[in-house]
Amino acid sequence: MADTDATFDVDLFVIGGGSGGVRAARIAAGHGARVMLAEEFRLGGTCVIRGCVPKKLYVLAARFARDFADARGFGWAPVEPRHDWGRLVAAKEAEITRLEGLYRQGQEGAGVEVVASRAVLEGPHAVRLLADGRLVRARNILIATGGRPNLDRALPGIEHAVTSDTVFDLPEFPQRIVIVGGGYIALEFAGIFRLLGAEVTVLYRGSQVLRGFDQDLRDGLEAAYCRAGIRFVLDDVFTRIEKDATGLVGHTRNGLALPADQILFAIGRSPNTAGLGLEAAGVALRDGGAIAVDADSRTNLPHVFAVGDVTDRVALTPVAIREGHAVADLLFGAKAGIRPWRVDHALIPTAVFTTPELGTVGLTEAEARARHRIVDIYRTGFRAMRATLSGAEDRVMMKLVVDGETDRVLGVHVLGEGAGEMIQLLGIPLRMGATKADFDATMAVHPTAAEELVTMRTRTARHMRDD
Ligand code: NAP
Repeated sequence: MADTDATFDVDLFVIGGGSGGVRAARIAAGHGARVMLAEEFRLGGTCVIRGCVPKKLYVLAARFARDFADARGFGWAPVEPRHDWGRLVAAKEAEITRLEGLYRQGQEGAGVEVVASRAVLEGPHAVRLLADGRLVRARNILIATGGRPNLDRALPGIEHAVTSDTVFDLPEFPQRIVIVGGGYIALEFAGIFRLLGAEVTVLYRGSQVLRGFDQDLRDGLEAAYCRAGIRFVLDDVFTRIEKDATGLVGHTRNGLALPADQILFAIGRSPNTAGLGLEAAGVALRDGGAIAVDADSRTNLPHVFAVGDVTDRVALTPVAIREGHAVADLLFGAKAGIRPWRVDHALIPTAVFTTPELGTVGLTEAEARARHRIVDIYRTGFRAMRATLSGAEDRVMMKLVVDGETDRVLGVHVLGEGAGEMIQLLGIPLRMGATKADFDATMAVHPTAAEELVTMRTRTARHMRDD
């Protein structure tokens, strides 16, 4: 039988109500498609429920500690702040519940049928809703099931550890926390817990955290965290975790015993593909379990698509959103006159919400030196203006990585307050191919920290490759 509209219950079935899924569903429905979206947990996905949003709220909460301390240098009488973890958890919960409601409204307002169920593929076009057993026949399917935190499951005592899925809702504030890992999540939580008053130890398997980031950012953050009293245990891993009456003790390969009230594992995330029926549908995976897709987010089956973390391309919310949007436009945009477009995964600006914050876009110095014959570096480091009166030792670092042959700015790296906001805007000139001369020709905004980005006249270093 030829496929007609009547053959299918929906034009698009979206599995997963996170950033990528809801965007695709809403845009597709806006283009007139019949769309159903299944989410087994809470609408909003990792970012809204247990990722970016609560994380940023906790970062904001934690940074008040600095405000209270710094205020004295500006004439304020000392205060003795006390933080109530339970109130923060409750306030966060209220906010994400509000956002979840907005997501639902957005879906339903666009005409998407949202079902609270796990959805499993039973064939190339067949989706089973486990909540009520319904079988839905879908013309197109989008898998947007995200990722889940990795755990070292073979480690004795791992059941005592928490991940980013549960750390936001700890029943009590951990006075002592050991955080395993040296990436985004580990370092963001290290900053949050330290500022909220915990003793924080970061246990990392390598010799320096933030592998892959520009070396000056790594050095700057490490120095700032050491000044803040965060302890780094490097080149080491846990061999077992024990629980006794006083709490947890993590034992390391190098013979350390690290006591803690909580141990947080932040050692990366893996695509959420288990138990989705992908084999039944014939959807191919890559090594490591991610769904294999092409530049249109299409799997090996022409009517099945996948976006976001489940594809393990760039595991960032805005990327998933854009991938979902592109799929919806590709499938259903023609009637609205929208031509298919592809997500450009190059030059993605990102921030790490440590304190101080990191912002980065484009090539690191090391990457640039590997790819370009002549690389010029412009770097500045200075005490933040606020630190002049507060007496804090906060420093700001800014660095431009420039192609010495074309003058094009290849990368910008910022460490310090507002780095995330700055790097969002810096993403625009970098995409446009701005040169160092363009930066130089831009008038400064005074007095700001960001003005240094357009006033770095003197080259710090020039690296020339011999070949
Ligand atoms: P991540 O940034 O990839 O860092 C994982 C860390 O765990 C790395 O330091 C890694 O070490 C270490 N690690 C990996 N396997 C390990 C093992 N078996 N034992 C010990 N250590 C191990 O991952 P994440 O921090 O868990 O975050 C997941 C993803 O979420 C990120 O990649 C990012 O895309 C996204 N995210 C983004 C933001 C943001 O944009 N601000 C915030 C949070 C999360 P090596 O370096 O040695 O490999």
